[in-house]
Amino acid sequence: MTCPNCQGARLVQIGLTLKERKVTMHSCSKCDTRWWDNEGQRVGLTNVLEMATVRR
Ligand SMILES: [Zn+2]
Repeated sequence: MTCPNCQGARLVQIGLTLKERKVTMHSCSKCDTRWWDNEGQRVGLTNVLEMATVRR
């Protein structure tokens, strides 16, 4: 996988579980672009925030 912004290959990946969904945060060390995916599917920031919101 490469950065969608600069095609850089130095990426940091951090796994998170939000509402029982596995989300991986990718961060590019070169241009600092961040994006998320859920089981290979790209997830928008809005969706991530929605998943991270705790509703009681
Ligand atoms: Zn980049």
